[in-house]
Amino acid sequence: MMRTAPPPISPVAWAGLLVGAGIFTFLVGLFAGLWGALVAIALAAITVAVLVWRSAVRWRARRAALASPFPEAWRVLLRQWCDHYNRLSDDLRARFEDDVRIFLAEKPITGVGVEVIDELRLLVAASAVTLSLGWPAYDWEQLNEILLYPDDFDRDYEFGEDDLSGEAHPWGTVILSVPALCQSFRDPDDAYHVGFHEFAHLLDLEQTHFDGIPLGFGDDAAQRWVEVRERELPRMLRGESVLDEYGAHDPVEFLAVAVEAFFETALALRRNHGDLYELLVTFFRQDPAAWDDARGLTLEPARPRPPRRTGRAGRRRPRSRLSV
Ligand SMILES: [Zn+2]
Repeated sequence: MMRTAPPPISPVAWAGLLVGAGIFTFLVGLFAGLWGALVAIALAAITVAVLVWRSAVRWRARRAALASPFPEAWRVLLRQWCDHYNRLSDDLRARFEDDVRIFLAEKPITGVGVEVIDELRLLVAASAVTLSLGWPAYDWEQLNEILLYPDDFDRDYEFGEDDLSGEAHPWGTVILSVPALCQSFRDPDDAYHVGFHEFAHLLDLEQTHFDGIPLGFGDDAAQRWVEVRERELPRMLRGESVLDEYGAHDPVEFLAVAVEAFFETALALRRNHGDLYELLVTFFRQDPAAWDDARGLTLEPARPRPPRRTGRAGRRRPRSRLSV
């Protein structure tokens, strides 16, 4: 099904807003009399007008983004670079293309010492949209901007240090190293993808901090997630896991590393870590291993895992700064 351009405020939210405004006005009128009630009505009307205006602007921008056919050159690039796009059905591929255009229309991507060409914008959008494809109304509300750096960087944002290839901030900024991002797409099945990793960090963002549990999980699913994580950690530390050991040292990093493995090594994750795979299928409403089955892929023997941060030429494990 093609993506439409839904208004960002749902009918349910509108109903809640109107009821809230009515209660607010009634209470103010009760305690502050007629003039107080009139002021409250005016404030409520201004608030609603601003929200309507913002909703209309956003809706028009989405319609404009989807008005033209998806550029064929972008389609060629996605086929060439984006393994997840290639494993999708025609319907989901069309949805992916719509989501990419909406993402690019709404999220600013800024280069810091690097020119942001269309190909880079496409890779950034493809990273985020891969994660959110199964959620029709999802709009990355917690993401404000993406910064692209010309190289890996250290904690003072100096380039060229063997430290960070990406970073996600709780206030909604994601930083990606361009070489690391390109390498992530160039090798689609090594369970390393700085784009998936950093955008995954925003999926457990609770107010101003990351907590390592996918946002939206109910109590039961969250409990299962913690149980599975505790079971997997020793396996990761012993090198007996599809998941990179990098995720074993922090619950927040466990989620990001699991998301990388889910989309990059889906068949191996399903076979070796079935419970974790099913939790991620439920969370993302996507089943990449089933789609790999459908395109005739089989599980190859696991590649030997090189020592972290030393055996992967040109690649560093992404890490996130978690300070608020
Ligand atoms: Zn991380």
